Amino acid sequence: MAMDQYLMFVDGQWRPSSDGAVFDCTNPYNGEVWAQAQSATSADVDAAVQAAQRAFEEGPWSTSTPMMRAALLRKLGDLIADNASELARLQVRENGKLIRELEGQAKALANTCYFFAGVAEIPQGETLSASVPHMQAFTLRDPIGVVAAITPWNSPLLLLMSKLAPALAVGCTVVVKPSEITPVSTLAFAKLIEQAGFPDGVVNVITGAGEVGSALVAHPGVKKVSFTGSTAVGKQIAATAATRLARVSLELGGKSPNIIFPDADLPNAINGVMAGVFAATGQQCLAGSRVLVHEDIYDDFAKTLTLRASQIKLGDPQDPASEMGTVSCQAQHDKVMRYIDIALADGAHLATGGKRPDDPALSEGLFIEPTVFTDVTNDMRIAREEVFGPVAAVIRFTTEDDAVRIANDTPFGLAAGVWTRDVAIAHRMIRKLRAGTVWINNYRKVNHVGPFGGFNESGLGRENGIHAVDEYTEVKTAWIDTGSTIKDPFNPRA
Ligand code: NAD
Repeated sequence: MAMDQYLMFVDGQWRPSSDGAVFDCTNPYNGEVWAQAQSATSADVDAAVQAAQRAFEEGPWSTSTPMMRAALLRKLGDLIADNASELARLQVRENGKLIRELEGQAKALANTCYFFAGVAEIPQGETLSASVPHMQAFTLRDPIGVVAAITPWNSPLLLLMSKLAPALAVGCTVVVKPSEITPVSTLAFAKLIEQAGFPDGVVNVITGAGEVGSALVAHPGVKKVSFTGSTAVGKQIAATAATRLARVSLELGGKSPNIIFPDADLPNAINGVMAGVFAATGQQCLAGSRVLVHEDIYDDFAKTLTLRASQIKLGDPQDPASEMGTVSCQAQHDKVMRYIDIALADGAHLATGGKRPDDPALSEGLFIEPTVFTDVTNDMRIAREEVFGPVAAVIRFTTEDDAVRIANDTPFGLAAGVWTRDVAIAHRMIRKLRAGTVWINNYRKVNHVGPFGGFNESGLGRENGIHAVDEYTEVKTAWIDTGSTIKDPFNPRA
């Protein structure tokens, strides 16, 4: 069967891997192998980093002004808006997420471009109060150099854009390594980069598995690694980067609490919990996978959640009527099923789901029924480890302090949700929860204006918002003497 073939994008050229090796892309909805992408060799990694280095040091990008970079980002934003449906369709084919979610994300990418186009032109330094006669002092920000942007499969383009837009706004150059599950959408995106007119070598895309990412991180020409993915790989990247003190930002995993107080608007809270844990088939770093419910409402809330989860309509992710798609790949499917077994063995009660659906129409796809475990305690592995699948662990709490203790008793710290009508509880919880994002009476709201990142093992650094440029620049301080007489320090009387 003829398959779509995708080349890598290096130095403005579309290239095969230097040894001709390719890998397959499989549609998780029907098992169809529909495309092949290149497995980059270490020579390909080196060529991409060298192209990015040249573009950083020489040529039009090295002397580009903020206004020029902003104009290119705006053009890219327009092209993304025009091609959002196709970008969404490709991502669905790769990772099995719902078309309606990925269309929304694809449209939002353009807004990120426009936002960082604006950021490119706002002042980035400050005038210092030097308190020294004749001395003027100020700071400026230098672009850091070549950035390695390594992305996962769950929202390939959204997560890439959070890295690319600020890096390009400040004048860095970038080598992108998408997940081996989702190379095609990133390569289609690179066509838009080419069309927008970014100079050769400013953005390069190489493809392949973890070892390609690992070779990229180890390359001495890479000055900064911006990574989104698992905590285990994030730690390896940080260790490699530390050997030459390359900068890193890490957006990693989570086990976020979604906390329901008894005074909450419960219909709203149920909807928020459902979206928090089951959207994207649970394959979201910010998943509210620990549902903490006050003891007074625990039984009723768990019953309603169980019913609602059992009613979610699984189906073809390209069909806008489907409510949940597949997980992304066989390994992910097996991992989720393993966690279901672990939860059962640890004594959690399986309230619904926990298996593949019986519907024969779904038998080719990597589907897992929306799963709710009740009577979970926070020491069970289902409450401590990231499953990255459609599995909710419902935990009982007694008081506000108890909720805070359970919520913060985790190695992670990416996000938290709180549902209450009491403004005092809301404010106290925002202060006490150890997480990079806290939502009140809402869950999952993120966009380009809000800094996003984790405490503890959920990562290092923040993406989005104007402070994202801090991750791609070095601060330089300039001291300008406007008229003092410099004495010979070794002969002060001279
Ligand atoms: P992963 O860590 O397995 O892979 C992520 C990327 O790293 C892929 O491109 C992969 O090829 C590459 N990689 C693998 N081994 C590497 C190595 N040794 N050196 C360098 N690169 C390497 O993650 P995944 O399974 O693709 O994605 C799921 C994970 O991503 C989950 O843990 C999820 O929580 C996390 N995630 C975090 C955020 C966030 O913003 N915090 C967002 C989305 C996903």
